[in-house]
Amino acid sequence: MSILQSIRNNATLTDLGVSAKKFKNKLLNYSAIHKEIPENYNPLPIDAVIDYNNNRYEGPQKHICFAPFNSLFFDVRGKVVVCNGNREYVVGDITKDTVKEIWEGDTINKLRQHLDNFDFSLGCSKCADAILSKNYDAAFARSYDSTPTVKSNPVRMEFEISGTCNLACLMCNGFLSSTYRKQIEKQEPYRDVYDESFIDQLEPYLPHLQFTKFSGGEPFLIELYYKIWERMAELNPNCPIHIQTNGLILNNKVKSALEKGKFHIGVSLDGASKENYEKIRMFGKFERVIENLEYFRDYCQRKKTLLNIPFTPTRYTAYEVPEFIRLANQFQATAFFNVVWEPHTLAIWTFDSPELKKLLAFYETQQFEKKTFIELKNHRQFESFKNQVRQWIVNAEVREKVYPEFSSLSNEELIEKLIVRMMEYDNGILANWFTGEVIPDPENHYRKKYREKIDKDPEVMRDTLIRMNTYETERIYLETNVFFHLH
Ligand code: SF4
Repeated sequence: MSILQSIRNNATLTDLGVSAKKFKNKLLNYSAIHKEIPENYNPLPIDAVIDYNNNRYEGPQKHICFAPFNSLFFDVRGKVVVCNGNREYVVGDITKDTVKEIWEGDTINKLRQHLDNFDFSLGCSKCADAILSKNYDAAFARSYDSTPTVKSNPVRMEFEISGTCNLACLMCNGFLSSTYRKQIEKQEPYRDVYDESFIDQLEPYLPHLQFTKFSGGEPFLIELYYKIWERMAELNPNCPIHIQTNGLILNNKVKSALEKGKFHIGVSLDGASKENYEKIRMFGKFERVIENLEYFRDYCQRKKTLLNIPFTPTRYTAYEVPEFIRLANQFQATAFFNVVWEPHTLAIWTFDSPELKKLLAFYETQQFEKKTFIELKNHRQFESFKNQVRQWIVNAEVREKVYPEFSSLSNEELIEKLIVRMMEYDNGILANWFTGEVIPDPENHYRKKYREKIDKDPEVMRDTLIRMNTYETERIYLETNVFFHLH
């Protein structure tokens, strides 16, 4: 019913509200469909954009993604990006630029323009993939809809400023976990680049924030965070503070910090069974995290905040996903699925299609309670994850068609093909992700790395080389440069 018809029919205010919303949604979708996109952009198909818009909690919005318009994310290297989903497109460096310079700079403006033209090519491939797969809950962009504000200063800040951590999870790396760096990579942990002067720099922004998130490393082990929370308690006590913790650190210092703020707590639980949890979250204790979850659940209920349990399904835990949903329901926590892209040996998307089909068939047999708001929400997460698996099946079938093309090549030819693509992706420059130190002669660096792997395990490595040649370049690049030591 149109607004005019509603008035003629003596509609109630609620009816009018619904009609106005429908009208606004139609208008926003209409302007998306008829938007004139300059040729230098590479937009997503408009059907995918409209479908995504219609699946956003508040329907279509002015921006397909608000992140570059309302948010800054400070990463462990001192680099500033706009969100956790896009680490490639760096909009500033806190060791060189001020927050004001970053926020008003040309670099962030370029990302704003790309996304407003539905072009996700500046590092937003994870969101593009989630939108194209209809796994909308995995689109990072959706979480920025909760603060649909475009202001002269950021209203969201996310912090990942130290890799100090007590665990070494299999899908982590030495940049984000000091324990992983020591125990798996056998190297000295990277130094923290943030100090107290960073907090002084933040101070003028703290009163305007509507959302903050702290991760790590393990946030409850990062001293600077306690200082930021103290300042927030003075300057903006009602601002929500979201914490992404492994849930194992719960002492008096943590409890006292929690009492001073409004903390929403996310406890990462990457296994629904003791066996898998402890295999994946190295040095973790399943019983302890379950016990602490009870404390966090009671805290969140008392403070009227959210308890969230993110789960990162891997090859080990693909069949535990339904059990995880039930566990989240039991703790009255919202479930969330992270996608593991690397390392490839853990990722589900790298399965061939028969294995993925078997997994999907198993998911189709699962039933859940759907009475409470949380149960309904978690069920929706599960359905969204199933959509993702469906898309992975399609992708795997495309890859499988080209396996023979690569199987006929020698190992050296396969290596050269990968190198050509990585050199294009990297503009021919390879630098340490954390320190920025440039690695000389990257082509030979890659060659040496691959040949060493072949010497160690010729059969597995041959299969890996064939498969990698069928992957997107970003996947090859990240695997080779960040996770390759695992194979
Ligand atoms: S589209 Fe996704 S990855 Fe890109 S800025 Fe928005 S939230 Fe981040």
